[in-house]
Amino acid sequence: MKSNYLELLASLVNIDSGSGDAEGIAAISEVIRPRLVQLGFSFEPVAAADGSVHFLARRGAGKKVVLLAHLDTVFPRGTAAGRGFHIERDLAFGPGVSDCKSGVVTIIGALEQVGRDQWPEIEVNCLFNSDEEISSPGSRKIIEDLVKDAAAVLVVEPAEGENLTVARKGIGRFTLRVFGKSAHSGSDYSEGCNAILELAHKIIAIQNLTDLEAGVTLNVGAVNGGVRPNVVPDYAMAEIDLRIVKPDQAEPVLKELERIAGTAVVSGASARLSGGVTRPPMPVSEINLKLYEKLRQVGREIGVELGTFQSGGGSDANFAAALGVPTIDGVGPIGGGHHSEAEFLNIPSLYRRIDLLARFLRVFPNI
Ligand SMILES: [Zn+2]
Repeated sequence: MKSNYLELLASLVNIDSGSGDAEGIAAISEVIRPRLVQLGFSFEPVAAADGSVHFLARRGAGKKVVLLAHLDTVFPRGTAAGRGFHIERDLAFGPGVSDCKSGVVTIIGALEQVGRDQWPEIEVNCLFNSDEEISSPGSRKIIEDLVKDAAAVLVVEPAEGENLTVARKGIGRFTLRVFGKSAHSGSDYSEGCNAILELAHKIIAIQNLTDLEAGVTLNVGAVNGGVRPNVVPDYAMAEIDLRIVKPDQAEPVLKELERIAGTAVVSGASARLSGGVTRPPMPVSEINLKLYEKLRQVGREIGVELGTFQSGGGSDANFAAALGVPTIDGVGPIGGGHHSEAEFLNIPSLYRRIDLLARFLRVFPNI
């Protein structure tokens, strides 16, 4: 049984499925489809408004449970050919091995443990989306429609230690474009308006909006501008990442960003700000902690003490939690080094999380 899960994981990891790689995503879906159909699940592609394709598996009637795991990774075509699935002692490696292909295996393993017969009184919906790593622009609406009447949403992203993720930060993404006037830096210096200088002032003002105590951070993560040293630059741009912990923290920051964009230090410069909040925050909430307590109880029954973790990153859990639906994330196995070559999965934790999820699904009608 256990080697069966690792085989499934190996075949998923060895198919590259970067966000936007429709062929890779389709190939992955063909690997998991027969396993789910075998269990009596329907398995259908769902097209989003932006043309991206996701997959929904459904079975049963009763309390509605939604399981979310994404099929896409941050790694391009050819990654698996260079460094495919491999195991060293208790750890497995390869692109997406933990984020989130081990989550997909956790779902399938748990459903196989629940078994085809004696299905509990629950309606299980598994959504495997293909654009999570680019903030789920297409699948967001599908997720929101699916979860809004759910009794429990479990997001099977990797776990941080022996914990479940009960809170996640909200994320905003912005682009700030600054316009000046180009001129010869020697003969017409005073004729020019230096867009890079204006951006420099703005960058400092933006970074200063950070309030670490409140959990609000702004990071100017990429800048661009100018052409050569002897030209006063007429253009510069910056890309900005915003993190918040509470929904009401977004608006004051947005106002300040607009003010900074609209106020020029360098005479003659102008700027345009675009972007917004891409994932609402998932704050610690009573409704989510109640679901956590149920999972913790189930964990104790299999000998695992589950703690809580609050993540600085976002996931699809943010969308479900923002609708007020009981949501817990980090239900997948323990891993680390995500989005890098060092990505790993703790193999024994895969079996524990399969047991946890299977047991939860069995008892959920009665708790
Ligand atoms: Zn992920």
